[in-house]
Amino acid sequence: MIDINKWKVRWDKENYIPKKIYGFETDPYEGTPEEVAETFLKENLDILKISAVLDDLKYDKVTESLGASTVLFQQYYEDTPIHGAWVTVHINKQNRIFMVKNDTVPVSRLNEKIGIAKAGPLPESEIDLIIKKKIEEHGILNSDIQKETMIYPLKGNLRKAWKVKFGTKEPAASWILFIDRTDGHIIEERNVLRTAKGKGIVFIPNPVVTLDRDDLFDEVDTEQDVFKKAYKTVVLNDLETGGYLKGPYVDTTNTPNAAKSSSFEFKFTREDDRFEEVMAYYHIDALQRYIQSLGFKNDKGILSHPIKINAHGGPDDNSYYDPSPGKKDITYGDGGVDDAEDGDIILHEYGHAIQEAIIPGFGQKSEGGAMGEGFGDYVAGTFFYKYKKKPRKVRIGEWDAKGYPGGGAECLRRLDSQKQYPGDMTGEVHDDGEIWSACLWKVKALLGKKKADTVILESHFYLSQYSDFRDGADAIITAERNLYGGKKTRGLIKIFKDRGIFS
Ligand SMILES: [Zn+2]
Repeated sequence: MIDINKWKVRWDKENYIPKKIYGFETDPYEGTPEEVAETFLKENLDILKISAVLDDLKYDKVTESLGASTVLFQQYYEDTPIHGAWVTVHINKQNRIFMVKNDTVPVSRLNEKIGIAKAGPLPESEIDLIIKKKIEEHGILNSDIQKETMIYPLKGNLRKAWKVKFGTKEPAASWILFIDRTDGHIIEERNVLRTAKGKGIVFIPNPVVTLDRDDLFDEVDTEQDVFKKAYKTVVLNDLETGGYLKGPYVDTTNTPNAAKSSSFEFKFTREDDRFEEVMAYYHIDALQRYIQSLGFKNDKGILSHPIKINAHGGPDDNSYYDPSPGKKDITYGDGGVDDAEDGDIILHEYGHAIQEAIIPGFGQKSEGGAMGEGFGDYVAGTFFYKYKKKPRKVRIGEWDAKGYPGGGAECLRRLDSQKQYPGDMTGEVHDDGEIWSACLWKVKALLGKKKADTVILESHFYLSQYSDFRDGADAIITAERNLYGGKKTRGLIKIFKDRGIFS
């Protein structure tokens, strides 16, 4: 028997019940942890002031730690578990009990606290409809639905409730709901998917822009003193538990030897292959959040689920979005400067993914392909606009371009091309893409960044797989009219006329 006067006790002052008894050790018991705990409880129910009979305290499980076994008993009321009402018995490796915790509800108060509801419980079919609505509200179901009845403590009272668990994707979440059995109202709902803020080091968007220097060289991916001032420490949002660069919008685990950190610290510099993974995670996540801030979120979201990234796709200087069924992922190449070391290239590829998300199979005609390249460049240009000094604002991929054999070029492509349609078309989609990105850049000048970005994204919803420049131009005019009333129609027509797209 335990002697409550000798041992340390924390009291439930409302009910004069010891909630925790500790600072003691019993003589060793015989048997399994479950048997030991049960014997102990039988001997001490009165002293512990646990008023529930042992039948209402049902053995749940044993958890083992290095120095002890913990045996858990759940309190039931008329065969329904009471949320949070547990007795735990702690047993050390010598089978001596050294602590007991009691969070049960005193039986004398159970009836009073539960009350007698005038109406009976809602039929289960009605509860299922409530659950269905909740799932639709939270995303797309991607787990089983687990449902059990329980007694839920609410403002000092107890309510009969359904406890419901399910997981969703888009966005990823793991939900627990408590629904009142009598009137169907949601007592509590919470997302228990644990995410963490990580820390990383990145270029925004690249060292040529940040240092405002053109004399930087890759030197076979080595770290150099000059880069020190180009690194920025950033927060990596909503990383899932597990320690990978995996969150609601980006998942870099397609990368060989993917970066992993249980402390969520991802502070690597450029010679470390994990640096490019951090770059991809940070910049795509930031762009997706910006897109959502424009209004493209929830049921209007564009690609608001994790896109798979391989930050090191191989020695070629080539990056691509792969629209194949079951893939829809991005690979960044390592030729010259690693592509994922330049934020412009990261976002350019994500631009392709955005288009494919809105119009699966976009770019069947070569002009559509050129619109894809131009749009990707525009995305990078507009997103990093505030980071770039004047002459650099219209240059895409300045850092990536430094890795070209035979000396660096100024940049990969420009947003202020003078090329005309159709005379300057070459049939190469990246070259011809400069005709389209130059139009988009003028749209930005006419509407302002935020409106232009919104209109250009919106315009994709009016396109099809076979769209060409002319369709793209019409779609932008329509989008501006739908969103902002068409005040800029004439200015937009002029942009496309000047370029030769409208005759
Ligand atoms: Zn491209």
